[in-house]
Amino acid sequence: MPTSTTLCVDCHSNPSSLEIRKRCLCHGCFRKYVASKILKRMETYRFKNQVGNAKKRLLLPVSGGVSSLVLLEVLDAQIKKQLDQQGRTAYDLVLVHVASQESDRDEGEKWCSSLRSCFELHTYLPVVRLSDVFEVDGQVEAALQLLGLTRQESETDGHFLVRVFTSARSATARSDLRELLLKRLIVATAKAQNCDGVIWGHSDSSLAAKALSEVAKGRGGSVPNELADGPSPWGLNFNYPLRDLFKTELQLYLGTSAESVRGCLLEHKENEDTPVSLRSTSIDTLLSTYITSQGQKYPSVMANVVRTASKLQAQGTAVGPGCRLCVMPITTGSETHELCYGCERMKQDIRE
Ligand SMILES: [Zn+2]
Ligand SMILES: [Zn+2]
Repeated sequence: MPTSTTLCVDCHSNPSSLEIRKRCLCHGCFRKYVASKILKRMETYRFKNQVGNAKKRLLLPVSGGVSSLVLLEVLDAQIKKQLDQQGRTAYDLVLVHVASQESDRDEGEKWCSSLRSCFELHTYLPVVRLSDVFEVDGQVEAALQLLGLTRQESETDGHFLVRVFTSARSATARSDLRELLLKRLIVATAKAQNCDGVIWGHSDSSLAAKALSEVAKGRGGSVPNELADGPSPWGLNFNYPLRDLFKTELQLYLGTSAESVRGCLLEHKENEDTPVSLRSTSIDTLLSTYITSQGQKYPSVMANVVRTASKLQAQGTAVGPGCRLCVMPITTGSETHELCYGCERMKQDIRE
């Protein structure tokens, strides 16, 4: 009986509607496929790996973008299932949203409450701003002083932050600083909330862009530490459950989600912005734009970047203290032994 529709190769009963990695799947099996890729990376937090009744608290930063939204949807479903079947959960999620602009805290709160009405089981922290890093991270100002950035008398957190960014003379140094402060903010928040780990929403595509840009910025030595699942040099576990999924697959997944979930998507400015000139574009933006546009054509190459980078020998953190700014191991090339090579290099682009 010849038929024009191809059956799904997994369930053999529904007509396929998507082709994923050369396999024709129906919507239902595609959603199962995505969820299984994510949950496989969450095995550390299963009941059987629990010591006694020590339930883990995990911080999930939610930007409102496709990746963190899909991650939340899948983990929420897992937690609901655990509650239904066992009456308890293997871990608790603590959600935090960093306002995209210093002034956008109210917008952020509004968005968080709509997210909460969709995923109500979890703990939601008040929206934080990047400048809150000065409040939650007791060591960040001393670290910035190593870059020659010192807070002026009676300067507010917000004004100091603006001055930190305007001191960066290149777009790359600026975005490097932003990334570092953001990471320090998330880590300090996780610690303040007694969380055991951070669940990051990076897809395979964004991890590939990250790996390549770290190398380009002289931070190649930190790549294995950055991308590994498990204990991180920050003293918390890091997990990247979306590491086996491409950005396009996450977009497709969200497209098959309930309308209430799709409604939680925050439009991000960086997607609309086309860089005006190469000079004002950071290495990070350049690589992530390149990988989202070109990488789609070569998904297996992108997957290889992440796989290879993760397999590189992770440098031990026990050999002396790490960099005061980014905590990565200090290797050769550093002059002061307080900053790593990558941070020393960034310092050259920072002038008050
Ligand atoms: Zn199917
Ligand atoms: Zn460093």
